[in-house]
Amino acid sequence: MRRATSPFRFANVEKNDSLFYKTPPNPDTDRFPMPDDTPAPSHGFRWNRVLLKVSGEVLMGDAAYGIDMKTVAVVAQAVAEVAREGVEICLVIGGGNIFRGLSKAAGDMDRASADYMGMLATIMNALAMQSALEKIGVDTRVQSAIPMAAIAEPYIRRRAQRHLEKGRVVIFAAGVGAPFFTTDSGAALRAAEMQCDALLKGTSVDGVYTADPKKDASATRYDTLTYQDVLAKDLRVMDASAISMMRDTGIPIVVFSIREEGSLRRVLNGEGVYTVIENPSAKA
Ligand code: UDP
Repeated sequence: MRRATSPFRFANVEKNDSLFYKTPPNPDTDRFPMPDDTPAPSHGFRWNRVLLKVSGEVLMGDAAYGIDMKTVAVVAQAVAEVAREGVEICLVIGGGNIFRGLSKAAGDMDRASADYMGMLATIMNALAMQSALEKIGVDTRVQSAIPMAAIAEPYIRRRAQRHLEKGRVVIFAAGVGAPFFTTDSGAALRAAEMQCDALLKGTSVDGVYTADPKKDASATRYDTLTYQDVLAKDLRVMDASAISMMRDTGIPIVVFSIREEGSLRRVLNGEGVYTVIENPSAKA
């Protein structure tokens, strides 16, 4: 006997968004874009979509190496709080807590292979963060710049945008997917592609200083800088390719300490301690 077809068959298929995605209108390519009927965000934060870059070092906690899951859980909690209130969050996590291409541990390996090892480290961190976020009920997807079908989605720009619109946190792993780059460049690239309102760099220091505050007690913190200042003064905030990409797209960079409790929320509210890097016209 033939099985009766469920009247809900198609409805069910439509609901299964892991199979099918409705393509959102793209004002760059659609000849007749629909008027923007996206409701204004109801949260009171100053940005609607941000990319949070967390260096691998932060995830070590007080250890000298590796992943401290307690610290990962603290960062995940901070992300969850603002994501639940409607801020769309992209995450890029470094890999320096496990492996860096340019490090003593790499010995005399060729640079490209060592960098690929660094990219694999970012995938481990991304999975740790995904697990911590999902444990507290935050829908999360990992997209890897190096296809790794068994453990993460491949990076697909439109699909990532759809995840964000659905309120999922998207973790972009493996940087830009090429050696001779860093996850800072990966963060800048994804922030531009996802049309983020800001790139938040969560580090262990509460902003950009005139010198390394851990080594020089007279170092002072900048409140604001221009991209050009950072490049001209060679302030090692992010690598030059990341800074120039943000300069060209006009996306502000906010450097703050993610180790301080509640700091992510404060930054999103325009409060607390941080350095903003932006164009001179935005500063005026
Ligand atoms: N890496 C790379 N290409 C990328 C991103 C990362 O080659 O697009 C490698 C590089 O060796 C880098 C390592 O991965 O040193 C870890 O990333 P990063 O140093 O940016 O981590 P973080 O300092 O943020 O912890």
